[in-house]
Amino acid sequence: MDTSFDTQTLIIGAGIIGLTIAVDQHLRGQTVVLLDPDGPSSRASYGNAGYLSPASIFPPASYVSATGLLRMLVQPSGPLVIRPGHLPSLLPWLLRMLRANQPHQRQAGAKAVAALHRNVVADYAPLLRAAEAEEFIDAQGALAICASPAMLETYRKKAGEQQAHGFACETVSPDRARELEPVLGDTFAGGIYFADAARCVDPGELGVRLAACVTKGGGQLVRHAATRLRPAPEGGWLVDSTERTWRARRVIVAAGRWSDRLLTPLGYRVPLASERGYHLMLPTPGVSLNRPIIFADGFFTATTMRRGMRLAGTAEFADADAPMDAKRAWILYEQARQHLPELDASGAVPWMGVRPALPDARPALGQARGHEGLYYCFGNHYQGMTQAATCARLMGKLLAGETPDIDLAPFDLNRFQ
Ligand SMILES: Cc1cc2nc3c(=O)[nH]c(=O)nc-3n(C[C@H](O)[C@H](O)[C@H](O)COP(=O)(O)OP(=O)(O)OC[C@H]3O[C@@H](n4cnc5c(N)ncnc54)[C@H](O)[C@@H]3O)c2cc1C
Repeated sequence: MDTSFDTQTLIIGAGIIGLTIAVDQHLRGQTVVLLDPDGPSSRASYGNAGYLSPASIFPPASYVSATGLLRMLVQPSGPLVIRPGHLPSLLPWLLRMLRANQPHQRQAGAKAVAALHRNVVADYAPLLRAAEAEEFIDAQGALAICASPAMLETYRKKAGEQQAHGFACETVSPDRARELEPVLGDTFAGGIYFADAARCVDPGELGVRLAACVTKGGGQLVRHAATRLRPAPEGGWLVDSTERTWRARRVIVAAGRWSDRLLTPLGYRVPLASERGYHLMLPTPGVSLNRPIIFADGFFTATTMRRGMRLAGTAEFADADAPMDAKRAWILYEQARQHLPELDASGAVPWMGVRPALPDARPALGQARGHEGLYYCFGNHYQGMTQAATCARLMGKLLAGETPDIDLAPFDLNRFQ
């Protein structure tokens, strides 16, 4: 082992992706340095809906027609907005996204994501055990409810395709849905029950536990931001950070939405957009759900967590750092109340986070072409909580020189070159 390195493996970003990779490395007997100026799970990985959704193999945009998308865009309180002034810079991304939604590309993408999602819940088990955090994932399925018959029909069709890929999806009547979730009103046409889904009951605290596991095992979590990556002339990598330069044998870029800032200067094309989502945390909701409920027509999810009920979703394309628009979080409450009439919003707290969105809604996961010792995992979009443990397992195999058990070509960053 070359002792002139500060660390063999340096991971940039301590969101759920960087943290699960770090714990997987710990289980393989490797210590890592994690760099993140904000500490563990502080961004998207803090405020997501905690819905582990193996069957979600299609991009969200595929649940609505092109005219439906346009209709959404002209409704300020709808599930999708593009901030004024953001459209010109987003246009190339939107065109790529529309291309990825063509039937042939969509089918190929779904097949690749289905392979990635095969064991997403089970892959968490060893990481949770190592972090003594098994109680953070609760596997009781999930329920999508559809208010309009048209949305129910869309979900039914998708369920057929999801079943064909091996995921458990059952169409349920309103009565059966209320058996599963007695607090639901009688305001919907039906739903789909996803038996192999699960929920995380506290995504932020799970990140803290995973980080503690890494540091107890001898790893370091350092509150520096990486500013530049340079191949070292004598081998390995030099990572400039806000405080110093680190030398590592290999580097993993797992900086979520901000990964492009490190990879673009090295010549990689990284078409990441900032698809911002909101949540409203209700500390005393007055009602409790047994599993995540997806409100299909509103494109958001309600999850009962340790600290109350979280309503999370919506898509707002804007600069990552633009101030949040708390109204978008409150819209979720107004919509959820239609189906959960007893819902209480006393003391509710709005939050906004940035999904790392690649136009084909598939993550980038692999070894950089043309730069030995450089790896990446980001762009997990709507699915980072779902995919993290599996991505970590696959990254562990790549780092160890083992053959991954799924084809990683569909996740290669090179697809955008
Ligand atoms: C409202 C909402 C609801 C969601 N619901 C779900 C859900 O129910 N299920 C699901 O599977 N997914 C969900 N997601 C998506 C999921 O949260 C993300 O895909 C996931 O958190 C991405 O993880 P990450 O680690 O890549 O990114 P992040 O959590 O954003 O972490 C990236 C980290 O990198 C750090 N960083 C950035 N630049 C640097 C740098 N230069 N140097 C060092 N560190 C850096 C940041 O500080 C940050 O901590 C949701 C997202 C949102 C916004």
